[in-house]
Amino acid sequence: MKAKILLVEDNPEWRQIFGRYLRNRGYELNEAKTGQKAVEQAKTARPDLIILDLGLPDMSGLELLAMLKQDSTTGAIPVVVQTAWAMDNIKTRALQAGAAAFLVKPTAPVVLNDTIKMILTTTLATSHAELPARQQITQLASP
Ligand code: CA
Repeated sequence: MKAKILLVEDNPEWRQIFGRYLRNRGYELNEAKTGQKAVEQAKTARPDLIILDLGLPDMSGLELLAMLKQDSTTGAIPVVVQTAWAMDNIKTRALQAGAAAFLVKPTAPVVLNDTIKMILTTTLATSHAELPARQQITQLASP
């Protein structure tokens, strides 16, 4: 079964680059350009994983992350945060809000893919949204 990924990204170039890359890796992909659309898609498409850009036109990605985590229908979906804002406090806030991993743009597609694979493998192996490999992943993802 193909893993389903929701790519939340307002920048068309990034959407194209990551979208194409992930489709080529065999993932089923949904895309959202705004926070509002992301919430809708997360509830209806029920993705296995969400890739979330923090700078969205209608809301902050951190706000959106908190919304997703607080909603019982979307709370267990692992979220990989991707942002060009490499500040430590942003990373800390994202991880505290429940992000499974934090990647700094420009993200090498192979790093994104490895992170996704690791999270999906861990998620399938455990029934908890809290991932034991989380620390490892974020360290791996650090610039
Ligand atoms: Ca953005």
